[in-house]
Amino acid sequence: MRMILFSSRQYDSDTFTEANAAHAYELRFQESHLDLETAVLAQGYDVVCPFVNDTVDAAVLERLHAGGTRLIALRSAGFNHVDLAAAEGLGMTVARVPAYSPHAVAEHAVGLILALNRRLPRAVARTREGDFSLHGLLGFDLHGKTVGVIGTGMIGRVFGRIMAGFGMQVLAYDPGTPADDLLALGARYVPLDTLLAESDVVSLHCPLVPATYHMIDSRALARMKRGAMLINTGRGGLVESNALIGALKDGQLGHLGLDVYEEEGGLFFEDHSNLPLQDDVLARLLMFPNVIVTAHQAFFTREAMSEIAQTTLGNVAAWRAGTPRNVVSPAG
Ligand code: NAD
Repeated sequence: MRMILFSSRQYDSDTFTEANAAHAYELRFQESHLDLETAVLAQGYDVVCPFVNDTVDAAVLERLHAGGTRLIALRSAGFNHVDLAAAEGLGMTVARVPAYSPHAVAEHAVGLILALNRRLPRAVARTREGDFSLHGLLGFDLHGKTVGVIGTGMIGRVFGRIMAGFGMQVLAYDPGTPADDLLALGARYVPLDTLLAESDVVSLHCPLVPATYHMIDSRALARMKRGAMLINTGRGGLVESNALIGALKDGQLGHLGLDVYEEEGGLFFEDHSNLPLQDDVLARLLMFPNVIVTAHQAFFTREAMSEIAQTTLGNVAAWRAGTPRNVVSPAG
């Protein structure tokens, strides 16, 4: 069984090589992104393993199929970057890693909240310079405030439980079934507009699908409490990036923590520090003192990486045995 991993880095090679001891597949680690041009590298590989910013549209799938690929083994939970209808039309299977460590992502969201609230990046930079003053570092108690959780699946539930532990009132919005564990902690499910209007912190944990694209736009930002905090560890397309700038400039949005960004493809996961940043919206966002951007690292813990490698290779084994699992299809 031959499998090629696109957009792979040393840490992917390390974790997949370790997990592959149980399978002994022939693995090829490819640094380049998957796109129409690089798809040729997958010629002769039964399994292609793309990452979140790879292009897996109809044209790429057709090229992969022509080269003999039959399984797209995603090493991510999100699958918004795959044309599932095209894959189905070609008879290709798409599998994903539905859960690895919801704790990794939820804990990173909490990290962003604490860092923004207590202005930790600024405080650290200041003490390194020998400046031990406190002006500009005033935060607020999370205890007694309200957090709004949008999407209470695996990650949103862990996040909600942690925030309840801080003594925050939890509001939730999810069109699916309410989470019993959050209800038991006193969470209230409310309409989205109510959540936006009443929360001091709003955190996004729903998938990017047509219904959630730009769910946080200028109208939603205007609905939020003045000076509230917005955290996005979901997917960049959930938030209309342009609208953030106006909301931050006039103070409507008080703090912003992003681990994902609409136009992150080709930028995140890579070192661009020697190049002028071409994305003017991101460049502007990075200038605000009350904004923190991390480069899609919420999933990046030892435990999650190990689980991702094991599940991805387990998906390959199941597919090979004729009992595919963790399959995603256009029907859902
Ligand atoms: P999940 O499928 O367990 O939960 C998603 C929840 O969102 C479900 O309860 C669903 O009902 C809900 N939902 C669907 N449509 C909604 C809508 N319109 N409004 C509100 N809620 C809605 O998924 P999960 O494992 O909790 O992951 C959530 C998302 O986090 C993923 O889709 C992925 O995009 C993102 N993610 C990011 C990282 C990262 O490193 N930043 C890592 C993993 C996952």
